[in-house]
Amino acid sequence: MPDLHLDVVTAERLVYSDDVDMVTAPGSLGELGILPRHAALVTTLQAGALRARKGADETNLAISGGFLEVRDNRVLVLADAAERAEEIDVERARAAEERARLLLQERRATADLAVAEAALRRSQVRLKVARRRQTTEIPR
Ligand code: ATP
Repeated sequence: MPDLHLDVVTAERLVYSDDVDMVTAPGSLGELGILPRHAALVTTLQAGALRARKGADETNLAISGGFLEVRDNRVLVLADAAERAEEIDVERARAAEERARLLLQERRATADLAVAEAALRRSQVRLKVARRRQTTEIPR
């Protein structure tokens, strides 16, 4: 019986809420693995894939940065943006990737480059997560 609860919320909506066995999140300093009875923790997230494992199922979400808190076997992710794999519009992410690549090729002001790099990263995370689909059967 799982005893870890995960909520992923954005300013707009509750994206995911369920009891899970393990959460893997894109921490700013590297990937974080969270199991039941994890120590209390607050950290920032970078754009990346968040995985929630429940039994043999794994749910993949694209996260565009934010915060993660672990307390009393509850994991709360406050994300700038988050989409489940099956919600990702692949054509939109490809178009965003292309726009960001063109901006980076133009090599304009430093601020523009940072914005374009962040947009490129978000689009690439979405494309990677979309490829994984929402639920992947994990070989036992
Ligand atoms: P775009 O340039 O396509 O808007 P973006 O990276 O600038 O991409 P965000 O600012 O991160 O987009 O997100 C804005 C909103 O659009 C959020 O609600 C996010 O979940 C949603 N979103 C962005 N890209 C996609 C996508 N490819 N598929 C589904 N939802 C998306």
